[in-house]
Amino acid sequence: MSRYFSEKFAELEAYVPGEQPKDQQYIKLNTNENAYPPHPAVAEAAAEAAKTLHLYSDPECAEIRKTLAENMGLTPDELIMVNGSDEVLNFAFMAFCDKHTPAVFPDITYGFYPVFARLNQVPFREIPLLENLKVNTAAFRQTAGTIFLANPNAPTGIALSRDEIEEILQTNAYNVVVVDEAYVDFGAESCVPLIREYENLLVTRTFSKSRSLAGGRLGFGAANPELIRDLETIRYSTNPYNLDSMTLAAGKACLEHDSYNTDNCRRIVRTRERTRYAMEKMGFEMTESRTNFLFARHPDVGGEELYRKLKEKGILIRHFNVERIRDYNRISIGTEEQMKAFLQACSEVIGGK
Ligand SMILES: *Cc1c(COP(=O)(O)O)cnc(C)c1O
Repeated sequence: MSRYFSEKFAELEAYVPGEQPKDQQYIKLNTNENAYPPHPAVAEAAAEAAKTLHLYSDPECAEIRKTLAENMGLTPDELIMVNGSDEVLNFAFMAFCDKHTPAVFPDITYGFYPVFARLNQVPFREIPLLENLKVNTAAFRQTAGTIFLANPNAPTGIALSRDEIEEILQTNAYNVVVVDEAYVDFGAESCVPLIREYENLLVTRTFSKSRSLAGGRLGFGAANPELIRDLETIRYSTNPYNLDSMTLAAGKACLEHDSYNTDNCRRIVRTRERTRYAMEKMGFEMTESRTNFLFARHPDVGGEELYRKLKEKGILIRHFNVERIRDYNRISIGTEEQMKAFLQACSEVIGGK
């Protein structure tokens, strides 16, 4: 830290993204990227848009917002487009939390929430997951704070039903409830159909996981137009050109070929279930994942040890050095071929015990 760094950030610990080592070719099962590249039309659209990079991008994101609204049965004023859904999550901490309105989220969830709370200097309260790693929905009644719920949750992969979230919305009518649906397309119930009924609901989504666009940095928020306007005030006060022309064009092309994405999600879910079955036979215990990853532990191998031994074999998975989940690893679902290599490496590690 330089002596010029503002003391208000002295305690800030930045988010640590999954490692991207370059020392050798790894099978990357550590950052939940989509196993498949985007539709070819996406690269073509981005290349076309690159020809007008001397001009600013459209701050209203009008075209993609219209396409997305049609795709989801919403109106464009119910949507805000952002540079990865992390951006709209940060905006929500800025817009809906302050020293009287703390952020409230589970103790084990997306690691960015406490980082955003500290960055924005707002207090936060963590509600412990139940023993079985499920969200303790009863403890989320009348919290008097702004709630952040990843659904399905990360890194556990466990989803709440729409009814369970609806109860949280009803019992927190005075505060915003943010539902982070980064993984919803892999088998959970979306809360988007509830945004017209609950004016305190903000749903955030990303193109990074189910739409193969992690490197494009594209996400969005869906909520009633009034909440969206608050978020737009923050966006226009931060960076009205938060999305570049290539990403806007790529995202639109991606939506125009959305059945390609849906098919890939289905394939990933099938691979997930096959991988789960094979891992169960090896003795792994797993949560019921509704995502593109599995969250697993093995009675004979520690979490850190499995992570390290797989890395030696050229396979990256994600281990969290966090008390309650230290025995676990999060394993992104890759292609069938990648998962075969993963299973083979696991059986070598476990067989060698
Ligand atoms: C990946 C992820 C995000 C955000 O991803 P972006 O790439 O910024 O869109 C948000 N929440 C959770 C729980 C995630 O896993």
